Amino acid sequence: MSFIHSIKFKITLWYLAILGILLVMLGCGIYFTLSQIIYRNLDASLKARAKHLLEFKDIISILEEGTFEEEAGEYVAFFFYQDNKLRDVSSKGQRIPVNKYLIEQGLSGKSSFSTMETHRGEKLRMYIRQYIPENNCFKQSNRRPGRPYRPESQAKCIEIKSSALVVARPTKDMDETLQRLLQILIVAIPLTVILSGGGGVFLARRAFKPVEHITDTAKEIGESDLARRINVTTKDELGRLALILNQMIERLEKAFERQKQFTSDASHELRAPLAIIQAESTLALQKERNLETYKRSLEIIAQETDHMSSIINQLLTLARADSGKDHIIFEKIDLTEFLKDICLDVEILCQEKRIALKSDLLDNVWVKADKKSIRRLVLNLLDNAMKYTSAYGTIKVNLKTEKNMAVLSVIDTGIGIPLKDIPFIFERFYRVDKARSRDIVGSGLGLAICKHIADIHSGFIAVESQLDKGSKFYFTLPLAV
Ligand code: ADP
Repeated sequence: MSFIHSIKFKITLWYLAILGILLVMLGCGIYFTLSQIIYRNLDASLKARAKHLLEFKDIISILEEGTFEEEAGEYVAFFFYQDNKLRDVSSKGQRIPVNKYLIEQGLSGKSSFSTMETHRGEKLRMYIRQYIPENNCFKQSNRRPGRPYRPESQAKCIEIKSSALVVARPTKDMDETLQRLLQILIVAIPLTVILSGGGGVFLARRAFKPVEHITDTAKEIGESDLARRINVTTKDELGRLALILNQMIERLEKAFERQKQFTSDASHELRAPLAIIQAESTLALQKERNLETYKRSLEIIAQETDHMSSIINQLLTLARADSGKDHIIFEKIDLTEFLKDICLDVEILCQEKRIALKSDLLDNVWVKADKKSIRRLVLNLLDNAMKYTSAYGTIKVNLKTEKNMAVLSVIDTGIGIPLKDIPFIFERFYRVDKARSRDIVGSGLGLAICKHIADIHSGFIAVESQLDKGSKFYFTLPLAV
């Protein structure tokens, strides 16, 4: 898989996009906050300077005389109307480009800040505020350059109602600082994104290495070898994923093995009756035989066909159970009455075999169960009891309750089951030593079906048995509430 189509690439791309946006936002934030702080400080210092200047007595006269000591780079000027003409008095006669509207505002008492550009292209930040001289008079200077000196007492008083003080400072240094910051940000942001991108790709590659290993191994396992396992032993999410996949593969392997075993057992079980049918029919057809022999052959063929059909039915039941497609309908049933009916049906068969069937059923035992399945389970147990009990034996069907469970038992006085076989008799196709039951037809599937029925009813099935004495199969089922 190419890198462009990998999750690594998508994650890196998202990471870079988010990082880029965050860095640009951060850069803009830094730049605008800093420029605001710088300008706010400048405005505050201009305001303080204006206040300080207005503390000077006759500040306009001082300015006009040219003796005013301005601070480095500072511009100071007063604007006022004299003889209906707007005049300005500035430090060292420097002319400041001020917007007339702002001057008018200043004259009318409205203070303001503004940024202007001089004809030399220098940017100035200025503060404009109103100044009303003492007695509305500004004493015209006696020491104006090119004018004859006049004593102080003769200084001419020019009447002005209001003046506008303009204090300005160049913003060059600050603008340069901000410009430099901007340049640094313009270089640093893409550089950080590129370096982080490299780091991101490296980290993503490292983080996804186990995923690649899992994918490769899973591919190999899927193609050939179910015995293989994924070798990721980290304790993180990928380690857990590998563990869960390994457990899943193990279950698959076991299910696959079971399936193989099941198929081979099923074909083995079906091969025997088929071989008998084949042999019997071939033998019968070889030459003319008497009626008795034909009848005997047909009986054998019918018996084996019956056996095959029973095996096939049981196989179908188990296949449906495995695929979870049993048609189960849970309903409330009176187990006592239900068992009485079954016992009535089975009684005739027992009589034929000269076996006594007894029952001891507690009244009114209600359970929630699937009728068809429970009937099948009880019939299987009774059928086994009849098969493995000889004439004059006894079969007992008991029903009682224990705590919140119904306990049904089928007890026989038959051949019993050897202790070593008991753990396996509920497995599919398991039959206790076939020699002892050579004449007894069976497939080894009946108890496996019973176990499945117990499981789907959240019940429990077990056996207690003694060789040559008999067996007791019991089955528990939750009582209906
Ligand atoms: P089968 O069709 O062979 O009876 P089951 O699954 O019903 O298959 O039973 C498995 C094996 O358990 C039988 O082959 C038999 O040997 C033993 N078994 C089951 N029920 C009894 C019983 N009541 N008495 C003695 N042996 C039994």
